[in-house]
Amino acid sequence: MTFEDRLKQDILHNGPVDVGTFMGRVATHYYGTRDPFGTGGDFTTAPEISQMFGELLGAWAADVWTQMGRPNPFVLAECGPGRGTLMADALRATAKVPGFHAAADIRLIEMSPVLKEKQQATLRDHKVFWHERLEDVPEGRPMILLANEFFDALPVRQFQKQGGRWHERVIGLDERGALQFGLVPADGFAPDADGDFCEVSQAGRDIVRALCRRLIRTGGAALVIDYGYVKGSGETLQAVKAHRPVPVLETPGEADLTAHVDFAALAVVAAREGATVRGPAAQGAFLHRLGIGQRAAALRQNAAAEIDEALKRLADPAEMGELFKVMAFCGPGVDPAGF
Ligand code: SAH
Repeated sequence: MTFEDRLKQDILHNGPVDVGTFMGRVATHYYGTRDPFGTGGDFTTAPEISQMFGELLGAWAADVWTQMGRPNPFVLAECGPGRGTLMADALRATAKVPGFHAAADIRLIEMSPVLKEKQQATLRDHKVFWHERLEDVPEGRPMILLANEFFDALPVRQFQKQGGRWHERVIGLDERGALQFGLVPADGFAPDADGDFCEVSQAGRDIVRALCRRLIRTGGAALVIDYGYVKGSGETLQAVKAHRPVPVLETPGEADLTAHVDFAALAVVAAREGATVRGPAAQGAFLHRLGIGQRAAALRQNAAAEIDEALKRLADPAEMGELFKVMAFCGPGVDPAGF
């Protein structure tokens, strides 16, 4: 039985499910059965676009660690590390920070067995521990945590006002047995957001609450990067397959399902726990403040030097340019280039 058939059968037996339950099941199947990144996959993330992203986040983490008085040991954690690219780039960028690697107890939070294997391969030169949930990371040490495009993958429930009353959006079956959206009255439930439509990520809030409690108790900082909003989103639930948006219910479990992150809601939860909240800052401004311009210039110079070096090796008389020779044999009517 396919994942979609199982999903439909459960709905047939137990009735419609809320959007969050649907999203959670889809995410477990989707991430659990593939590597979705890159041009041949469904979507591309910042660390997969350039090494600069992970390098700058590594520098950010090392700076936090220095400000904290270089605790040894400390937990260097990442939620939803994908292929492990961000962490690998961050570790390479911090290799020369005295004591940082020796003190780092690296913990990756990943639920997908397929991606865990990828991460193991990418990070084979480092000692790394894996956990399915953040709560499973042992307590008692300061923590520096990174999370890029993790919170958008967490389930949201959707609520819509109709006839003056709030309803919850659910997913049921139509007469032909296809998945379809519906609304049920959300009795006694009053979303703490304005507007006629809202999305609530309980999982996101729970993780931030637990995280901030830990940061208050044992110190540290967390950096959350994602697409999102601060006020009034409307509906943001979306499915992406092969780099194109597709209808959310069309191929459940075969497309990446995400919702924009409600940063204001996360900030409220964090502040309530006593954590200092900075941002949200725009990603571009943040990266520029961390020095992405200078990093790009340095890489460009390296690349230029590498290209000059290759040119020299191939064509300089003192290298391959003189000793190596080229000869062509041609039939009638051919005047080959290069001679
Ligand atoms: N940070 C990576 C990957 C983003 S995709 C990058 O920027 O490239 C989302 C990641 O979060 C995947 O690794 C996925 O398997 C993981 N993930 C999604 N939901 C999760 C959950 N509830 N618990 C743990 N990991 C989850």
